[in-house]
Amino acid sequence: MRLLVCLLLAGCVTEDPQVLCSEALDGAGKDPTWWRLDDQLAHVHGVKLFHGHVPGVQLKIETLERVLQAAKDYQLPVIRYDQIADTHRPAIAIAIDDNAIDDWYALRPLLAQYDAHLTFFVSRWYQQGPQQIDELMQLAADGNELEPHTVNHMKPLTYVADHGLDAWLADEVDPSIQVMRDHGLEPQFFAYPFGERNDELDAAVLARVPYVRATGSHCKR
Ligand SMILES: [Zn+2]
Repeated sequence: MRLLVCLLLAGCVTEDPQVLCSEALDGAGKDPTWWRLDDQLAHVHGVKLFHGHVPGVQLKIETLERVLQAAKDYQLPVIRYDQIADTHRPAIAIAIDDNAIDDWYALRPLLAQYDAHLTFFVSRWYQQGPQQIDELMQLAADGNELEPHTVNHMKPLTYVADHGLDAWLADEVDPSIQVMRDHGLEPQFFAYPFGERNDELDAAVLARVPYVRATGSHCKR
């Protein structure tokens, strides 16, 4: 049964289907590195997760466009993270993290061109002005997903070591979930800043949302 679950969900990259692992798109996508990404896209099993940061800076627009075009060419649906559990065929999910909201908003024509919806993991919501909040709500209305990425993007393991788990949850996690609920959203995922996690943090966060996302060396193996 575990093998079946592994085959059906993105969990093939983790032991735990609630702890998903994403690969960074930052700095990728330019020749000569494109061949590796293209090879991955050509051989996707389950749901392959990608994430990037500021569009046009770390995450090149041409990279995003190239991935969206390749997904189309390989007939891979581009799904949101909250669709992963119900997706039982090869697909990709693309997230963009943090709070470059004006730059996210500027992606709307590209996303419309490919009829693609992304997942945006939002940190520092409280620092955003009314225009940025409106942009977030429009992105959500377009069919994109907004999910929490903590309040101040502190390093989780360092913060817990310095202040304790309860303080991290109270300061960094719970308000980032609550502000979304206050805006009518229902968070399903939580992305760890810097991907940093351990089993203790997973247990605490998974009591609040059904799934968490890790990255890089912090992925559960
Ligand atoms: Zn981040």
